[in-house]
Amino acid sequence: MKNRIYISELNRHIGEEAVIAGFVDVRRDQGKLVFFDFRDMTGKVQGVILPNNKEAHATADPIRTEWVLEVRGKVNQRPEKNIQKEKLNGDIELEILEIKVLNEAETVPFDVSSDGRELGEDIRLKYRYLDIRRDRMQKNLRARHAVTKYIRDYFSNNGFIEVETPILTKSTPEGARDYVVPSRIYPGKFYALPQSPQQYKQLLMVGGVEKYFQIARCMRDEDTRGDRQPEFTQLDIEMAFVEEEDIMSMNEKLLIELVEKFYPEKKIQQIPFPRITYKDAMEKYHSDRPDIRNDKNDPNLLAFCWVVDFPFFEKTEEGGWTFTHNPFSASKPEDAEKIMEKKDIGSILAAQYDIVLNGFEIGGGSIRNHRPEALIKVLEILGHEAEKIQDNFGHMLSAFSYGAPPHGGIAWGLDRFMMLLQSEDSIREVIAFPKTGEGRDLMMDSPSEIEAKQLKELEIVIKTREQLLEKLKHNK
Ligand code: ASP
Repeated sequence: MKNRIYISELNRHIGEEAVIAGFVDVRRDQGKLVFFDFRDMTGKVQGVILPNNKEAHATADPIRTEWVLEVRGKVNQRPEKNIQKEKLNGDIELEILEIKVLNEAETVPFDVSSDGRELGEDIRLKYRYLDIRRDRMQKNLRARHAVTKYIRDYFSNNGFIEVETPILTKSTPEGARDYVVPSRIYPGKFYALPQSPQQYKQLLMVGGVEKYFQIARCMRDEDTRGDRQPEFTQLDIEMAFVEEEDIMSMNEKLLIELVEKFYPEKKIQQIPFPRITYKDAMEKYHSDRPDIRNDKNDPNLLAFCWVVDFPFFEKTEEGGWTFTHNPFSASKPEDAEKIMEKKDIGSILAAQYDIVLNGFEIGGGSIRNHRPEALIKVLEILGHEAEKIQDNFGHMLSAFSYGAPPHGGIAWGLDRFMMLLQSEDSIREVIAFPKTGEGRDLMMDSPSEIEAKQLKELEIVIKTREQLLEKLKHNK
């Protein structure tokens, strides 16, 4: 828009005419004077129509909150007694000369000038595009952008490159349930959405990239519980020729920098971050993500710690073994022989480290098994048959047979981390368009049925309505 001035910059134009554009935040009628608060992405300002401006009065008459306007006015200094020092533009007022209506607004379903805590979440999510107008959401989204940008710069400055990995990939037994996507060209076959870029990032190490990161979307079809989202964002990192220490210190440095730069009001309880073995954490805190804050009432206290030396395997209900974190992890070097001989399995420790903040696991990673023979042993311990190992992991074994540098990495749950930094109590507050706790998008109305034509193209037959209703009953 030509000549538009952002509201936060109006005070540089005192005594001049200025054109602003934005939403009507508040309208107040005081007889002959009409006051408006206008809002754009940079802030708010009060405007007033003086009694003699008949034309502006006429235009303003129908205007209500959330209308979108272009306003030309004169930036006036407020008289001393009306100055609100602590407020942006508390020292000025826009004397409205001319109003152009860019778009009218129906009465909005809720007030967007509050913090929204008085509202049920469903209505906020249904009208998320309005909910995002509120100051609290604007702050959360802008803070997330600032932190993400800092992260990108940090890694770029340290020789990392961001590489995009596929969203349509292959279903592999990685822990959680996969979301699958039917293939039209190969009826009866499916892609899977990535639970994490784990395998691709390791293959990038085989590819000689050495330092990789990605702000990556991950999808896991888990039962909706508490604060989980079907899709979430990870800061994903992998490095070649490293040991546990390298990855931990590089991440610790970044975490400290982020807090100091963007959250100076917050205090990190202990630097360097304490390191607690899994065994000690379980004995002392009865949790592998201990909340070690020495004052739990202080919202500005950040108690980071590393939890290390996790058991590699744990018993399944059926009496076999499963991995505690990641099938691609290496054992601690001193336990490497136990893997090769498949003995004392319960005592094998993984080269795994989790980063915990105030009782939340905000990240985790490991040094990987880069020798194919050791990876095969792990998969055998996990009960995979030789044929399945080739089917599911053949590409990894093959890759590792062509010269794979030792490597390791980590991933942070970016949503959870932002939630804690922003002192929010749900990750949904730091995600622009989250699903509900039950996995639904109330704004788009998703998941939803698809056209019969689409089903036919995919050669998919849905059970009858009766069969589906029966199934839903059992799911309850
Ligand atoms: N891929 C792992 C995860 O998603 C993290 C890692 O080990 O890098 O939890």
